Amino acid sequence: MERTLVLVKPDGVRRQLVGEILSRFERRGFRIVGLKLVQPTREIAERHYAVHQGKAFYESLVSFITSGPVVAIALEGPQAIRLVRQMMGALKPEEAAPGTIRGDFTNDIQTNLVHGSDAPETAAAELAIWFGADELLA
Ligand code: ATP
Ligand code: MG
Repeated sequence: MERTLVLVKPDGVRRQLVGEILSRFERRGFRIVGLKLVQPTREIAERHYAVHQGKAFYESLVSFITSGPVVAIALEGPQAIRLVRQMMGALKPEEAAPGTIRGDFTNDIQTNLVHGSDAPETAAAELAIWFGADELLA
């Protein structure tokens, strides 16, 4: 069993795709163990995207992710980290397969609707950034 962090980014909330995105993960069988609507502060965005600090797209990324509320979702299930990433689709629009969230709903590399943790260590760290221990189901 694994846990992973998913964010529906501000573009997903603005486009009213929260239900669509959540529904895909629910139908795949993942259990929701944490869920909230949050307006990210610059501080939380910088912690979440620390790995990208210094990259050309970093400032633009932080301003995008703080541009409106996001939905933070903690999902649990077998191979949750990998399966959620597969369901999200690739970063490059030309590589995001139809049937994935990005492949079905975006053609842009930045406003790509979802974030998903990419490894067990990042999942644990990111869950701790977005959720207090008392906000996650046992
Ligand atoms: P993947 O790991 O599958 O490539 P990701 O979502 O984890 O996808 P990252 O490389 O970790 O992508 O980048 C984090 C986020 O930064 C992306 O989801 C996207 O919103 C934004 N981003 C990444 N690369 C670019 C870029 N070249 N230009 C603009 N925004 C970018
Ligand atoms: Mg990433």
